[in-house]
Amino acid sequence: MRILVSGASIAGPVLAYWLSRYGYAVTVVERAPALRKTGGHAVDLFRPAMEISERMGVLPRIEELATGTNRLVVTREGAPGPVAIDLAKVFSAASDRHVEVMRDDLSEVYHDAARDAVEYVFGDRITAIAADGTVTFEKAAPRRFDLVVGADGLHSGVRRLVFGDEARHTHLAGAHLAVLSVPAELGRDGEMRMHLGAGREAAVYGARHLTDARAVFLFRSDRESHTHRDVPRQKDLLRRTFAGMHPEVDVWLGELERTAAFYFDAIIQLQLDSWSRGRVTLVGDAGYCPGPAVGGSTSLAVLGAYVLAGELAVAGGDHERAYPAYEREMAEVVRRSRAFARGVAKTLIPSSALGVRALLGGARLLSALPTPISRAIAKANDKGLRLHDSIRLKAYP
Ligand SMILES: Cc1cc2nc3c(=O)[nH]c(=O)nc-3n(C[C@H](O)[C@H](O)[C@H](O)COP(=O)(O)OP(=O)(O)OC[C@H]3O[C@@H](n4cnc5c(N)ncnc54)[C@H](O)[C@@H]3O)c2cc1C
Repeated sequence: MRILVSGASIAGPVLAYWLSRYGYAVTVVERAPALRKTGGHAVDLFRPAMEISERMGVLPRIEELATGTNRLVVTREGAPGPVAIDLAKVFSAASDRHVEVMRDDLSEVYHDAARDAVEYVFGDRITAIAADGTVTFEKAAPRRFDLVVGADGLHSGVRRLVFGDEARHTHLAGAHLAVLSVPAELGRDGEMRMHLGAGREAAVYGARHLTDARAVFLFRSDRESHTHRDVPRQKDLLRRTFAGMHPEVDVWLGELERTAAFYFDAIIQLQLDSWSRGRVTLVGDAGYCPGPAVGGSTSLAVLGAYVLAGELAVAGGDHERAYPAYEREMAEVVRRSRAFARGVAKTLIPSSALGVRALLGGARLLSALPTPISRAIAKANDKGLRLHDSIRLKAYP
């Protein structure tokens, strides 16, 4: 049985690993010319995704590559000085097991886990999928596959082909997100420095093994037109939105002229009720992104890939049984991740000075309390902060 996966970032390689372990012949097609190694950002693995990585035998390598960012130094606009927050404590309140790692490092680890058992095709993309499984590519000759899986991210090409343009998405809290690569000396190992104001926040972080650092900008704006792919306009909007925030932020904005990697998008949540049709299904951000940077979407992508492969194995490759079982298994965690992300998007980018104080106060409290107490507070709210740890991983044969 031949399965085609579109996208070689997180969900794609994890799915390819498990499918090949269950004996399926897997091809992964990736639009980029090689595994992405520039740009990217830090992502989080919480308990279920760490357990899956452990079962894949790659957890020690992931832990070696951890960013090690364990201190957040926040300057509130208009406040006299910065406050330090113990991020390790905040994360340990959210999950008993957590690691932060750069997405591109994680992608490479998952890719390497099954590189010899999987056919990887870089620099190509799917242009059509026929009902009988014949797939047409931009460059390669058409081929027939039994199943096709879109693991090609928030703006999935497979989803567009099967479900239509940007099927059922919503913008969270009118929030936007931008990341740029900046010189390594602007970041400090183990530390994220942040400036926080009503409706806007900017931060920089680095990691020991990176040759650059990353500046992140989050801000509120309801104008959907910002998402159009007009990079000069996006950069100009960033400069205007963050003007006068702090001299340090001006230095980061100065890098907009030279940066080698720039990302800008609205924080979008997908709201498909079902993400399978015929032989095609979606996994990770392509199917159920709760919102980048606000909903634990990387852990969700790893979990979804593991569950999809497991359900296909249990159903002996019968997608008419496996796809509904996969959707049933994921439905609750997807629903809760969406609700969680909507709340985080509002809290993380407060629209008022009062909201800024509340965010900072909450983070300081979690950081100051002894870990067992902050954990107990977080545990009282299983639907929110402890969402990932409340997931019980299904065992597949
Ligand atoms: C700025 C930013 C910050 C984030 N911060 C966090 C965080 O703090 N914590 C967290 O958990 N998550 C975070 N995320 C989200 C996280 O990156 C994603 O949830 C995760 O990468 C999802 O993995 P994926 O494999 O589903 O999709 P993606 O990582 O988006 O990968 C999709 C892959 O498909 C490829 N592709 C795209 N279109 C095509 C096509 N037509 N044909 C073939 N290939 C294609 C892409 O090149 C890419 O390799 C953040 C995201 C962004 C953008």
